[in-house]
Amino acid sequence: MKIAKTITELKTYLEAIGGDKTIGFVPTMGYLHDGHLSLIKAAHAHNDVTVLSIFVNPTQFAPGEDLDAYPRDFLRDSRLAEAAGTDLLFFPDPAEIYPAGASTFVEVEGEITKKLCGQSRPTHFKGVTTVVTILFNLINPNIAYFGQKDAQQVAVIKKMVRDLHLPVQIAVCPIVREADGLAMSSRNVLLHPKERKQALVLSQSLAAAKALYQAGERSVKILTAVIVNHINSMPLTHIDYVEILDFETLANIETITSPTLAAVAVRFEKTRLLDNIILD
Ligand code: AMP
Repeated sequence: MKIAKTITELKTYLEAIGGDKTIGFVPTMGYLHDGHLSLIKAAHAHNDVTVLSIFVNPTQFAPGEDLDAYPRDFLRDSRLAEAAGTDLLFFPDPAEIYPAGASTFVEVEGEITKKLCGQSRPTHFKGVTTVVTILFNLINPNIAYFGQKDAQQVAVIKKMVRDLHLPVQIAVCPIVREADGLAMSSRNVLLHPKERKQALVLSQSLAAAKALYQAGERSVKILTAVIVNHINSMPLTHIDYVEILDFETLANIETITSPTLAAVAVRFEKTRLLDNIILD
């Protein structure tokens, strides 16, 4: 596995690979877990070359969010990345991605970035779409791999690719979970032991809603209330949102008639966790 710290190194390695090879690209912020590795393995299985980026992107964190506390371990990451099939690891400094004075952003406007995570993190997706565009421009992948864990991010990236006619295909991989059901996340290590126990309520509340849906319940109001009540039964949780929305457009609905996304964001003292499930 090659490691590129700079854009010059990245370009040199990509040129050596040659233009006739297909490139699968996995953008991450590092502190890799099995969720990330599932994306790398998917890229490795379907492309000639797998490129992984590890970049804790400052523009998607607002002041006061956990940019500095975000966990990092490059040595461990690079070993895991190589074992999972990464050919080229891009690990740039912020100054490499954002040259001094950079003031250009890519922003997907509208409800899709304003609801869910956009409510409590109004500048977050602008940072995500900007850095993903920069990385797409630098790497020129055929297929880019994202996790369903960040369902709104997937919807926003797909819309950006469609709106801007970007020449890349977006592949979405299922949520990878811990044995007890907690969705894997780099932020899970930041949970205190008591919080870690109570965090199980995210996946459990979604499973309860899914069971009710499978038993025939179609009312968004009733299913939402089931999730909210489950989460609120754990005293260390603070609900950021519980939403049941159209899977593709993230539009609000009252009754489920087509594939639907049930998504939750829950804050613990310092850590905010996401989870979701598809009702189909
Ligand atoms: P991050 O490093 O958190 O920015 O995540 C990088 C990519 O990994 C994103 O596309 C995430 O959706 C994906 N990802 C994170 N956690 C999981 C998970 N538990 N299962 C599947 N994909 C994940």
